[in-house]
Amino acid sequence: MRHITVGVLGFQGAIEEHVYITRKALSEAGLDGEVKVVRKRGELEKLDGLIIPGGESTVIGGMMEHGGIMDYLRQTRGEFPVFGTCAGLIVLSRKVRDRVLGETNQPTAGILGVTVERNFFGRQGDSFEVDLEIPVIGGLFRGVFIRAPVIVDADSEVEVLCRLNGKIVAVRQKKVLATAFHPELTDDARMHIFFIKKIIG
Ligand code: GLN
Repeated sequence: MRHITVGVLGFQGAIEEHVYITRKALSEAGLDGEVKVVRKRGELEKLDGLIIPGGESTVIGGMMEHGGIMDYLRQTRGEFPVFGTCAGLIVLSRKVRDRVLGETNQPTAGILGVTVERNFFGRQGDSFEVDLEIPVIGGLFRGVFIRAPVIVDADSEVEVLCRLNGKIVAVRQKKVLATAFHPELTDDARMHIFFIKKIIG
């Protein structure tokens, strides 16, 4: 059986939670693998896939740019398995805007053909939980949203995996998977199993 190595980008956000749920996903899927926290570009080449946690996208994106990780991802053109959650979605997107500031021009990898709007749910809906319908993982999934973005525009090659009130909150394009919510903050490993089984493959 193939040994799978999944990296979790260790700059900011729910890093340990992603490590925990990815280990759980490997074990529930009956796969042989390991999960590593990575921070350097050189470590990426040894991985079968990378997870980018949420946090603050300008901070994470700046660190990725500085260390050459952003360039590495740009060169993969979406052929390397990456899973971004919340701020992790933002740093993968082609274009980022903010309702107040307009286009943010922050560094992103641009390997996901979407435009995202940061902090979409505004003050009142800053953080909330809601049941989402995600057919590719078999139905209902608890979505944890924390100052979350939404996808306001997507290329035709982008597969929409989930909407909330008509707004796109989970997508896949080639080997890039992204959610506006935080699956690592639930105990449900199905999104991570989907990433490992269907995208890393
Ligand atoms: N609001 C954050 C941003 O725009 C993302 C929040 C999150 O990752 N939970 O970067």
